[in-house]
Amino acid sequence: MNVDRLKELSINAINKINEFSENVLKTRGGRIGSGMGLLIEALWGYYINLELEKDNFELGWLPDHQYNDFVCLRKDKDWNEQTREGEEYRIEVKSMNLGADESKGHFDVLLSEIGEHDLLIVIIWEWTQVTDYHAIPKIKDHFIGLAKDIIYLRDELHISRGGSFVNKTNCPEKDCACAKDFCKYTGEPLNAAGKRERVKGPPSARPSPRVSYAANFGGLIRMIKTSGVDSRTKFRTLRKRNLAIDDYITFIHRNYPTEEENQYTRREWDTIAVLYNLDTTSLSKKEVVSLIRANIPKYYIALRDHLE
Ligand SMILES: [Zn+2]
Repeated sequence: MNVDRLKELSINAINKINEFSENVLKTRGGRIGSGMGLLIEALWGYYINLELEKDNFELGWLPDHQYNDFVCLRKDKDWNEQTREGEEYRIEVKSMNLGADESKGHFDVLLSEIGEHDLLIVIIWEWTQVTDYHAIPKIKDHFIGLAKDIIYLRDELHISRGGSFVNKTNCPEKDCACAKDFCKYTGEPLNAAGKRERVKGPPSARPSPRVSYAANFGGLIRMIKTSGVDSRTKFRTLRKRNLAIDDYITFIHRNYPTEEENQYTRREWDTIAVLYNLDTTSLSKKEVVSLIRANIPKYYIALRDHLE
């Protein structure tokens, strides 16, 4: 099942989930922290399966606490989850409520923990008023891409913001009981202050006795934030070079327009405006951004291609 085909099928699945939501998930009041995100992720599993079956594939659910949620399988063929026999790729689904903060939307898996062809799916939903009294959880947008591309983006920007990754030579454990050429914390992210970002990181690098780990790493929005010239340059280079990375950035910025406005400087927005002969004299940055969005439908391509 190639990824482009999966993307098509996923659009059908999402439309059907929204239909289901209107019929069944209608509620009075809609609260954040209702577990709705998990329900949406599971529904995606069920509805994509109905689509996959048309092409003779189906969805497997990975047991226990393995990293990925789902796996795309050939229909009615043997599946061995140890050897990955019968698998097309594994799929991790993350959902984000547009109105909430992203605290639960973390993509912090290490490159070494995923497969070459594994996918990341991010679903953005929000409570939508359907009557004077009722709301439904409605999916607004979703992203599908190769997990390793997003990991690359995440890790490069992590480093450019002063973060690092543990290896044998910089392992912060004093009494590291690791074998000679091997450190069991290899690849674990540490933030700019040298504190661990995941619970599996080196124990001596916990942020404080009361805080086990920093947990900023892999935040679905946070991971594309930049600070300082180095990381801003890195961001622009990566966006230009890798289509999947550009896709992800465009997806996040489309749904969180303030992130996009902040990512680019006044000067950069002006550069885009000039390119399209828009007059920005005496406008504020916010007004320039609005003007560009209103007049250039594909301005985000210019943000990718025409800035250094
Ligand atoms: Zn070590």
